[in-house]
Order: sequence, then C-alpha cells, then structure tokens
Amino acid sequence: MAEQKQEQVFEIAIVGRVTWNLHSLNNEGTIGNVTEPRTVVLWDGTKTDGVSGEMMKHIHAFWTWLQARENNLLLCQACKELKPERANADRRLRQDEWQEVLRSPKNERPKVAVNKAIVQCAMCDLHGFLIAPRTEGEEGQGRRRRSQEDKFPAVHRTSVIEFGWVVGIPQKFHRDLHLHARHSQEEQAREEEQAREGEERVTAQMLYHRPTRSGVYAFVTLFQAWRIGLNEVNYTYALNDDNDRKKRYELALTAYEWTFKRPDGAMTTTRLPHIEGAEGLVLVAKTAVPVPLLSPLRDDYRQQLKDLAQRQGVEVHEFDELVKLTEILTKLRELTPFKLSAASQQ
Ligand SMILES: [Zn+2]
Repeated sequence: MAEQKQEQVFEIAIVGRVTWNLHSLNNEGTIGNVTEPRTVVLWDGTKTDGVSGEMMKHIHAFWTWLQARENNLLLCQACKELKPERANADRRLRQDEWQEVLRSPKNERPKVAVNKAIVQCAMCDLHGFLIAPRTEGEEGQGRRRRSQEDKFPAVHRTSVIEFGWVVGIPQKFHRDLHLHARHSQEEQAREEEQAREGEERVTAQMLYHRPTRSGVYAFVTLFQAWRIGLNEVNYTYALNDDNDRKKRYELALTAYEWTFKRPDGAMTTTRLPHIEGAEGLVLVAKTAVPVPLLSPLRDDYRQQLKDLAQRQGVEVHEFDELVKLTEILTKLRELTPFKLSAASQQ
C-alpha cells in the first residue's frame, strides 16, 4: 500500500471565455436562400449567439479520431470510417464479430455488448454510443418478429467528454447577415446568347445570405477521466490495463488542445474563424470529488470558482492565452486516469 503511486486524475473541467471573430461555426439551418445563425435564450430572456455542445463535441471527436488513426490506437470498423453511430454501426458492419453477445446468457448480454464496444474502440469508449437494434428482416419479405434468443440488447454509453453551449456574453457579440452572389459561367454564356438574340435577360447570379458573427463566448466542458474504460452496466473496468487507459486519456487531452486551437465547425471554407484568444481555468480533481462548475457568463467566475475549488481540494490552473492552456494540458498528460478502487469493484 505504501508503494509510490502515480498521481491520478478523477476529472477535469475547462471553463472560460474564447474570442472568435467573423465565424459561422454553427447555424440553425437554411430557409430559402437565407442561413440563420444559432440563437439561444438565457434565463432572463436575453437572446444571444451560440455554438451548440453537439458541434463542440463533434469537433473534439474529429480530432480524437485523427490521432487514434495516426497513432494506431484500437478503433472499431465504424469509427475507423468515422461513422457517427459508432458501435451501433459497427454491429451492422461486422455482424460475425458481435455474435459473442448473442452467445452469452440473456441477462449478461448488456454487459458483454458494452464491454466489447469499450475494449475494441477508443472512440466508442471516449465519446459514447447508443446501440439501438432494429427489427431484423426489414429489407426482406416483411418484418419477422425476432425470437428472444437472437435479440440484441439496447444499450448505451454516456460520453466521457461533455460540452455545454458556447454562448455569447450579452453585450459582447455581434451578428451580421451578408449577401453573396454566385455566378455560373454556363448561365452567363446563356445570358449573353439570349441578349444577342434579343430575348429578355434572365439573371444568372444566385443570391444567398450568410451570417457572420463575432464575440466573446463562455464555454464549459467536463472530462470524466475516471470513467475511461468503465463499463457502467456493472461498474467494472472493461479496459483494465493502466497503460491502455492512459493512452486514451492522453488522446482526449490532445483533442481538447486541438479543439481550442482549431474549432473546425460549419462554414469554415469561407468563414474560418479569426481566433483572438482564450482565457479561463482548468480545474483538476485528483480524488473522487466532482469539480465545481460555474458559468463564465459571470464576470467574477474565476474568483468564485477558485474559492469553490479550494474548499473541495480541487486544483486550479489559470490561463490567459491559448499557449498557456496548451501548456497546462500538456502537463496534465503526465498524470494517469483515476480508477475506482478494487475493493469497490466485483
Ligand atoms: Zn468505435
């Protein structure tokens, strides 16, 4: 018991403000030729600009995938192909591989299915999945009612990485709708022909409106390192090897770094964000206590969070520039993800 134990990380929160200019990373959708930006409403009815947690998680997942592919970390076939359904798609792609689930006693199938998904894939483990079996025989001659024996369990894994909305600080954001025109050379040639033949000219240009936004945005994100490899059907570690868990932990930390350096969301082909800066706190719990969360919508969030963290024995690292955030995340890679004690596991 007295042996030297490497410092562990239970969970990490990164909270703060980013300044992004002239982007359109996330939109409501397009009606006609107008693309609407995301709008969110705060408790007091204030409308503000936002980028959804789904978009941020998507960006983080993409950077996780890139590293996992390049560093030869285990990925299921579906995640190798970056299919958003992850384990659910893998089950359809490689039916033979998943037969072991159906060979297990019925009451063990949820545990076996989650175990398999976690062990075989870093993406499924870190970013979660939902296995939602469909009635088989849909494409055949009508629906066949499945027998209890060949039934695959519906199971899910909650992501180890969580993002809230990235939300514009009221009074500190601006939005504009810009008009653009697209010209087709083919159409232009036809126009000229019509003009020569004295026909009425039909306009060849296509007009469309796109939003451009700038602001200081509050963000919150939580990384529950202790849950890496943990099968939450029976709360034992499907991935038990410390080294394997650490590799996935490092993967998630680097993906965070890249997410803040390169938030590759929507419309980056023409609205690559002008990233001006980032500031905030990284809160690190090294024992099994939850890190406190308080929104950087509050101007005094840093001081309040420092006080709360201190009372809980949670470490606080402060950053005022992206490079400092990078340094903090790099340093955190030296630690290992927390594991529930063996006594608490069966
Ligand atoms: Zn996967």
